Amino acid sequence: MRYCTFAIVAVLSFAATCPAQEYLNGITWQQPPVVEPGPTAASPPSDAVVLFGGEDLSAWNGAENWTVEDGAMVAGKGTLVTKEKFGDCQVHIEWSAPNPPKGRGQGRGNSGLFFNDRYEIQILDSSQNDTYYDGQAGAIYKQTPPMANAMRAPGEWNTYDVIWTAPRFEDDGSLKSPAYITAIHNGVVLLNHFELKGDTPYNRPPEYNKHPVKGSIRLQDHNNPVRFRNIWVREWTTVTGEQTRDPFLRDGDKEIPIEK
Ligand code: MG
Repeated sequence: MRYCTFAIVAVLSFAATCPAQEYLNGITWQQPPVVEPGPTAASPPSDAVVLFGGEDLSAWNGAENWTVEDGAMVAGKGTLVTKEKFGDCQVHIEWSAPNPPKGRGQGRGNSGLFFNDRYEIQILDSSQNDTYYDGQAGAIYKQTPPMANAMRAPGEWNTYDVIWTAPRFEDDGSLKSPAYITAIHNGVVLLNHFELKGDTPYNRPPEYNKHPVKGSIRLQDHNNPVRFRNIWVREWTTVTGEQTRDPFLRDGDKEIPIEK
């Protein structure tokens, strides 16, 4: 019994002092870039493109009838289209439905945030306003409802934080990889890597038609004076790595190949 206890203690203490072997994948990674975050989570980070910072609409085409009031831009007649084109990106946007609310269903506080000129995540006053679920705030229009209704009351500010993956197409026009979207509304996940079935029109099923990876971001005019503020977008460079050698284990200075 004494020997047995001694053996167990010896094994345990050896395990505690023996350094573990480290797995190395053989990939040489690029160093992730330094990005200075904004002072709050909602502020543009250092590498963001500011699409609206509270003063001017110069980042947009189609803004002739949109106005700026108290640091917010107010939807007017005509679709707002970014001059710059974006591919895979992260967008922060704040929006507020008209107060007092006017209209009902799709006629109340309707706008929309479009990626690649054609894929809409719905902006709508979904506070005590019934409509079809795949048309409420945070829906991918006519494709899926959001997983929650996180709407703030009319006149209050909502935030969308959206991660967009643009679709890719083959040379012959067929789909190589679909679009994906992840969306957070006021801190609540609405869409988690949702795979889009195509574009988001009102009057026909979704479909994909070949387009460049980069396209404009649009804001819809749906005849409702929805307000917007603090809009920024950032693209990223994927931190690619190169397989420079086969994976191996390192035990101190000793390198041990991993059997395939
Ligand atoms: Mg809309």
